[in-house]
Amino acid sequence: MQKILFDSHTHINNEDFDDESRAQLISEIEDSAVAYAVDIGFDIASSQLAVQHAQTYDWCYAAVGVHPHDAEDMTDDDLMTLKELLKQPKVVALGEIGLDYFRDISPRDIQQKRFVQQLNVAYEAGVPVTIHDRDSHGDMMEILKSSGAFSEARIKTFASRPGEFSKDAGILLHCYSGSAEQARQYIKLGATLSIAGPVTYKNNHKTAAVVREIPLEYLLIETDAPYLTPEPYRGKPNKSPYAEYTARKIAEIKGISYEEVAAQTLANAKRYFRID
Ligand SMILES: [Zn+2]
Repeated sequence: MQKILFDSHTHINNEDFDDESRAQLISEIEDSAVAYAVDIGFDIASSQLAVQHAQTYDWCYAAVGVHPHDAEDMTDDDLMTLKELLKQPKVVALGEIGLDYFRDISPRDIQQKRFVQQLNVAYEAGVPVTIHDRDSHGDMMEILKSSGAFSEARIKTFASRPGEFSKDAGILLHCYSGSAEQARQYIKLGATLSIAGPVTYKNNHKTAAVVREIPLEYLLIETDAPYLTPEPYRGKPNKSPYAEYTARKIAEIKGISYEEVAAQTLANAKRYFRID
């Protein structure tokens, strides 16, 4: 099996797995076209588990952070723990962090407070971030701008990228669900966008338009497994090997080959997460 896909956002650390089902998943990933995957933390325990996975599997990298759903339970000590975890080998990003106004599990003011605090940890450490933004597009853009996400100091931290929008701010909007117009604003500012399974859904014209309009250089591919399963497996649990279907859909929309999408998004992700 040719290893050609980079799954930039997955949850091998998902708490619903027992040892056996996780081992099964890992062997499926190892037998698939997936060359790399980033296991993304959503609270402290899952962040620690992601770091453990990154230390165990060559192809696995970790991101550490507290999700907006868990913002209310987050403590100031957790910020210190995240700073320590960021120093571990193969921890490539802070995330996933952000805002979720769709489910509103934590109060919005607390979500915002913990999001900004974690952004500041990323700015200080000079690491890329992975951002969750659900139904909070307006506040998200405002907070990113006012916190310095696209400041000169931040941009200077990262090597420039190819193409017209060469500024890299180390800001990744995961499972990008905004408009094409906002997507254009984001990449001009230096952000990167990650496309997930929903792009394969028949009526998702909005994300298809984003893929059509944004150059491939600024897109990554992800599964967000076990969530957001692409067609033709929608309704079943997602897994990293299904990143293939998202890549195939992007290829179809852009009128290029699946192999080109896989190769370019893999290169983009390696650059974004600074993996040699
Ligand atoms: Zn996620």
